[in-house]
Amino acid sequence: MANILVTGGAGYIGSHACKALAQAGFTPITFDNLETGWRDSVKFGPFEQGDLLDRARLDEVFAKWQPVAVMHFAALSLVGESMSNPGKYWRGNVGATLNLVEAAVAAGCLDFVFSSTCATYGDQDGVVLDEDTPQAPLNSYGATKRAIEDMLENFGASHGLRAVIFRYFNVAGADPDGEIGEFHQPETHLIPLMLDAIDGKRDALTIYGTDYDTPDGTCIRDYVHVMDLVDAHVLGVKWLQDGKESRVFCLGTGSGFSVREVIRQSGKVTNREVPVVEGPRRAGDAVKLVSGSGRAEAELGWTPHRSTMETMVADAWRWHQNNVAHYKA
Ligand code: UDP
Repeated sequence: MANILVTGGAGYIGSHACKALAQAGFTPITFDNLETGWRDSVKFGPFEQGDLLDRARLDEVFAKWQPVAVMHFAALSLVGESMSNPGKYWRGNVGATLNLVEAAVAAGCLDFVFSSTCATYGDQDGVVLDEDTPQAPLNSYGATKRAIEDMLENFGASHGLRAVIFRYFNVAGADPDGEIGEFHQPETHLIPLMLDAIDGKRDALTIYGTDYDTPDGTCIRDYVHVMDLVDAHVLGVKWLQDGKESRVFCLGTGSGFSVREVIRQSGKVTNREVPVVEGPRRAGDAVKLVSGSGRAEAELGWTPHRSTMETMVADAWRWHQNNVAHYKA
């Protein structure tokens, strides 16, 4: 079985990717410093604790496991923090990825799957985004992800690195088997914060801005089920293994949900009141981020079949009820 090095494999998306890889017959080797990941989420293959800024440790792990590809999830991803502390993001995202890429090239591991983001687009005045939309990040987080996209292209030209770059939209939901799910500390994402509020674990969900130029005044996002998202990553590894060229894919569904719509649907799915207060806008938020591209579907054969709001909230809610107390403890 081929080994895949999964950085950030103890995190939310990385752990779901490990499960999908194992189900597809690969062996996921998790590399994670456990700063934001959870040891309990590493269930589907070996674990190597380490930091991407530690080149010697990376070299050791590449030599030990001889991975055929890297899936690079590990990243700092808090938009607000990236604005107040950009140095942390340039070092922790760009510096760390440079180390990883150089270690991969030195080890002869030239297939690379990278988690990029729709935050590289910035605010595009409500247009539906696709892979050809010009990138203009609004925040340091998005800027570091765009810089890494450029880095991968440069290493492709010079060293033959081939990269599948996925630009994520909003990821939600959890493993329907309930083995893993979403838990961040601190949590900043809409759906888990809302589930906390529904569950009485926080007083209320604050809506960040109700005066946007959208039908109900709240921001619009394109939500993708985490299981669908990681399915695309397995297809990305296969794409590279088939010898195909580097490619960027947007992973969205083309459907936008406003914050108020997410709240409404979540109330229905959980059959509970959602305690809500209205607050000011959050710095760095784009008005609308919706992916209009069918490239992943047409070229990778990707089908986001679990990405209805109902299924995402139901899967997240089930995991939340069974596990969040354990992770919090
Ligand atoms: N949001 C909100 N209240 C919260 C967290 C998020 O109103 O407590 C909004 C946020 O402004 C954005 C949407 O929900 O419009 C999704 O935010 P999230 O942080 O989940 O993901 P992002 O779009 O920033 O990647």
